[in-house]
Amino acid sequence: MAEQIMKNIYRLPVTLEGSPLKELNTYLICGGKRNLLIDTGYRTESCRKALFDQLALFGLGPGDVDVLLTHLHADHSGLATEATGSTGTIYISKQDSSIFGSEYAWQQYRARSDERMRREGFPQELIAAMSYVSPSRSAAAPRNVPHVCLQDGEVLQAGEYTLQCVLTPGHTPGHLCFWMEEQKTMFLGDHVLFDISPNITYWDGFEDALGNYLQSLETIRAYDVQTALPAHRGSGQMHQRIDGLIAHHDRRLQETVAIVHENPGINAYDLAGKMRWRIRARNWQEFPTMQKWFAVGETIAHLDYLVLRGQLQRREINGMAAYYAE
Ligand SMILES: [Zn+2]
Repeated sequence: MAEQIMKNIYRLPVTLEGSPLKELNTYLICGGKRNLLIDTGYRTESCRKALFDQLALFGLGPGDVDVLLTHLHADHSGLATEATGSTGTIYISKQDSSIFGSEYAWQQYRARSDERMRREGFPQELIAAMSYVSPSRSAAAPRNVPHVCLQDGEVLQAGEYTLQCVLTPGHTPGHLCFWMEEQKTMFLGDHVLFDISPNITYWDGFEDALGNYLQSLETIRAYDVQTALPAHRGSGQMHQRIDGLIAHHDRRLQETVAIVHENPGINAYDLAGKMRWRIRARNWQEFPTMQKWFAVGETIAHLDYLVLRGQLQRREINGMAAYYAE
C-alpha cells in the first residue's frame, strides 16, 4: 500500500498480474494547483482498482491528477486517460509521443516491427499470437488523446517540488527520468532498475537502441542521486547499479559474438534460444511467447550494436537475416 517517500511524495505500488516485473511503482506528488501522478499501470481491471483505491486514500478520483509518463509502455501509460479524466493533462516526451500518440503511427510501427521479427526468424504463428497475448496491445491507453510533449531539460513544477526532464533514450526512444536537484532525488522510470535489468529492444526508426541506452546510463551518472526511485520493485545505490548494468551488457555482447562465431549464418531467433535467460522454462521451445518476444528483441538490440560497430556482419539471404563473424 501507499508508502511515503518524503513530504507530499508517495509511492503507490500497482500489481502487474502475470508480469515478471511484479509491480509498478507509481509516484504521487501532492500539493499545488493539481496533484501529479508519475506513471499509472495497465488498462486492466486489477490495475485500475489498485491505482484508484490508493488515490482515494488521498481524496483523489479520476480527473483529479495530471499524469507524467516516464515512457510509453502500457504498464506505465495504460490508465493515463482515466486518471486525468477530461480536465487533467498527460505529459510524455516528444519522441515517445510519436509512437504513443496516434493510432495510425502505432499501427504502422507495429507492422514494421512484426516484419523485422519475421526476418529475424520469429515464427509467423507466434507473431500473430502476440496480438492477443501482449498487454502492450490489449491493455494500452486509447491513442489519439490530447497530451503535452516534453523536451530534454524542461522543468515542471509539482506542489513544492521542481522536476527537470532528463532525456534517457534506450529503453524507449524517448524515455525520461525526472530530477529534483534540491532533494538529490531522481525518478528513474525503467532506465535503471535494481532487481532486474531493463529490457533493451530494437525500435523501428530508432537506430542503435543499446548504444543509446549505454550512453544514457553515462548521462545520469553525472547526477548526484541520493534517492533513486525506480518504476519497478526495490531501490538501491544508483551509481553502483549503473556499473552493474554496463557489465551485464558487456557480458551479453561477448556471449552474442561467441555464439555467432560458433554458428555462422544464425538468425536472432535461434541465437536468443542459445543465450542464457533468467526465466523459469525448461528450454527455448517452452518459453512463453511474450518472453520469447522480449528475448529476441533484446538479442536484436545487441546484434545491431555489434553490426554498427563492425564486430559482426548482417546479411539478408532470401529476405531473412543471417549473422556472421567479421
Ligand atoms: Zn518500460
